[in-house]
Amino acid sequence: MFNVLSAPKVLSLILLILLAVVSVTGQRTAPNQAPTRANILRGEYGQYRANNDLLYYYLDVRVDPEKKFLKGTTTARFKMLKEDSRIQLDLHDALKVDGIVYNEWDPKPRSAGSSRLREELKFTREAGALFIDFPTPLLAGHIYEVSVHYSGNPLEQGRFGGIAFKKDPAGRTWINTACEGEGASVWWPNKDQWRDEVESMKISVSIPNDLVDVSNGKFLGKTDLGDGYTRWDWLVQYPINNYSVSLNIGHYEHWSDRLGDVPLDFYSLPEDLEKAKKQFAQAKGMMEAFQHYFGEYPFKKDGYKLIQVPYSGMEHQSAVTYGNHFANGYLERDWTGVGISPRFDFIIIHESGHEWFGNAVSAADTSDMWIHEGWTTYLECLYVEYMFGKADGLKYTNGYKSKVRNQRPIVPERGINAEPPQDMYFKGALFLNTLRSVIDDDKRWFALIREFYQEFKYKNIMTEDVEAFFSRRTGRNLTPVFEQYLRRTALPVLELKFADGSVQYRWKVDEKDFVMPVKVGAKGSWQTIQPTTQWQTMKTAMNKENFEVATDLYFVEVSKS
Ligand SMILES: [Zn+2]
Repeated sequence: MFNVLSAPKVLSLILLILLAVVSVTGQRTAPNQAPTRANILRGEYGQYRANNDLLYYYLDVRVDPEKKFLKGTTTARFKMLKEDSRIQLDLHDALKVDGIVYNEWDPKPRSAGSSRLREELKFTREAGALFIDFPTPLLAGHIYEVSVHYSGNPLEQGRFGGIAFKKDPAGRTWINTACEGEGASVWWPNKDQWRDEVESMKISVSIPNDLVDVSNGKFLGKTDLGDGYTRWDWLVQYPINNYSVSLNIGHYEHWSDRLGDVPLDFYSLPEDLEKAKKQFAQAKGMMEAFQHYFGEYPFKKDGYKLIQVPYSGMEHQSAVTYGNHFANGYLERDWTGVGISPRFDFIIIHESGHEWFGNAVSAADTSDMWIHEGWTTYLECLYVEYMFGKADGLKYTNGYKSKVRNQRPIVPERGINAEPPQDMYFKGALFLNTLRSVIDDDKRWFALIREFYQEFKYKNIMTEDVEAFFSRRTGRNLTPVFEQYLRRTALPVLELKFADGSVQYRWKVDEKDFVMPVKVGAKGSWQTIQPTTQWQTMKTAMNKENFEVATDLYFVEVSKS
């Protein structure tokens, strides 16, 4: 996602506050606010979520654009990890549950005449949570399946609407989902949390015959239902987070390309076709850059799609959405303000970068979202380095400094559906650039980040996993460095006290075991020192005025006296 506090964001916040009066579900825990019951139910990986592991979803939904009405079924297959007779799914309270059916699940083909056991299940709803009760306990290690039938008019909410029923500039139907903040349960029933991604999924979207649906995964085909509607079928062949599951319904034009063995599919409105063909060509360079650093595109069997939408953009897995005006920069601005952003389309690079970090490597809780956003912002910096060289990469990275606020830690409280601050993007990327300088060996750094990606590809991880990986692989305790940048508010301050012919130095930080090298002296002939939180002394012929610190390589503050 890309999400900064801009005028539309302020408006949407006002809208959120208004919506809060009518709905308690769908909003994250804001800073300095006690979590609501709805946010605990959404955010916590509680007993009725932890007792099962998702295997497969089949979402079959019919969309009536005129009535802004959905009617559908989610079939969820899961393996019980602990014996229990209740599980938790989630569905926004604006949508009605029409019934929940237990399906006896058996992977073997049935003989003629035999039928599966089907049984209506009891359920209770509380603030967006949907608790399903089974008449007898489900056994650990066994696989079960339930179908949740639902219908209703979903409530549009959040910055991009969650699910938005819009018209394109020519006045035709244009319906899109983008629900990372609000949660996928604003438009379909699912286990709406981050830790457990379903292994694979089928998505069927039935829409009036004249429309096109683009969802995630591989396009299987379309079927005329004979009642004025056509069903579009898509197959997701990799783990996917709920908020990535999407539908994009409109009068789309489609064209295809390939990069090696990765199918590329593009969708735009007919009027924008020529502009889109020109701008979307940047997807190839993006893919070459990220494949260079991290390895092959992670969703090859599903292909890569880039789809025009009315909002700025979103990282929907294998179906990245785009609304950046077919212009370079971000919404026609020089995004980091140093003259480099106008050379490429920010949304194509950023949102597609999430295929590697966000979709392939995913965070297990919203509090660990810097793993999506900090890393993907750093991927932008790597893209610039790949395309335009190391000096421009560094310049682009440091352009982000002006956006950092240092008002609260990047990683907030876990398990309460908390919204991390914007610093997770900018400070996150600057921290990774700092870590590169700590390692101080580009060959080693690039090998490390590639191994990190490969180790955690298709997994849901936490900040602790990132810390442990880098400490283990570098053979040094980097935890205090991670903790200072991610769980503390202030940047490390390098304190320097000058005397005749020498300088005293130490880190002023919150983490008492903080040790981090830094380059000092004069640019071009940097000297690496190893400050700790204790004073040390070094000789120098330089004075307070000309003694420099490499603050473009390390995101730190300097205090001289
Ligand atoms: Zn993002």
